[in-house]
Amino acid sequence: MKNILVLGGAGYIGSHTVKKLLIKGFNPIVVDNLVYGHKAAVLAKDFYQIDIGDKIALNSVFKKHKIDAVVHFAAFAYVGESVTQPQKYYHNNLINTINVLDCMIENDIKNIVFSSTCATYGNPQYSPLDEKHPQNPINPYGQTKFMVEKVMDDYDRAYGLKSICLRYFNAAGADKDGQLAEKHNPETHLIPLVLQTALGEREYINVFGNDYDTPDGTCIRDYIHVEDLADAHILALEKLFTEPKSYRINLGTGIGTSVNEIIKSAERVTGKEIPVLYVDRREGDPAKLVASNEYAQEILYWIPKYVKIDDIVESAYKVMVNPPF
Ligand code: UDP
Repeated sequence: MKNILVLGGAGYIGSHTVKKLLIKGFNPIVVDNLVYGHKAAVLAKDFYQIDIGDKIALNSVFKKHKIDAVVHFAAFAYVGESVTQPQKYYHNNLINTINVLDCMIENDIKNIVFSSTCATYGNPQYSPLDEKHPQNPINPYGQTKFMVEKVMDDYDRAYGLKSICLRYFNAAGADKDGQLAEKHNPETHLIPLVLQTALGEREYINVFGNDYDTPDGTCIRDYIHVEDLADAHILALEKLFTEPKSYRINLGTGIGTSVNEIIKSAERVTGKEIPVLYVDRREGDPAKLVASNEYAQEILYWIPKYVKIDDIVESAYKVMVNPPF
């Protein structure tokens, strides 16, 4: 059985991936500082409350378990906050990740799957976005992920560290069994906010701009189900074990959905009318971000299973009504 060190395994995408790892017969060992993660979301038997910046503590986990590969989710991911507090982002997402890579080298571990993002592309020059699109991040969050990709390129050349960087588009939805959920504090993501509005926890949903150059004037995003993301991590690990080589791969459905369409979907799923308030654009939001997932299909044989937005929204609603933790 292979031991997989999952950094940030108590977070949203990390916890769903841990569940898939267990189903697939891997042994996940979770490290999370629980700043944003939830202990109750950790399904693995081995859990360490450690900050990835703590090299001594991290090294002790590497020494205790014979780690075969690392899956690294541990990061701060609030774009707005990254603009006002870049220090926090460069320290945690970049410097601490270098710390992780150095621990891997010291312990002779050569495989890592890393959470990257479509935010590394910046403003799209064409759509759908493929992996050859220039990377010009427009905020510190995207910068940190872009820089880590570059560090990993250099660590591959110099030390033979193989990395698969998965560039997520908009992660959404929740575990179909209702065991795990998306739970951010503060919540800034569209689908949970829309659903909270449907449940009467918010008076209305603020829609950031309806004057974009899109069919209904609202922003278009590519919402990818968290279980599909989790599956891609398993496939990436298997790829590294069978054919160690570094890749950078987009993960999206290839389908664009506007903010208004999300609201309509949530109305269908919940059977409730959702009050909307159209407000100014949010700074740094491109009109349209949609992935080309051809490369993911070619390299990982990954095909997303959730392609209907109502199914994605419904899975999120189910756990919101019946929270697992
Ligand atoms: N959005 C919105 N109102 C909100 C939150 C988000 O209109 O309260 C829009 C946002 O402008 C973007 C889309 O919903 O076009 C998805 O935003 P989210 O923050 O969920 O993800 P992001 O695309 O920023 O990663």
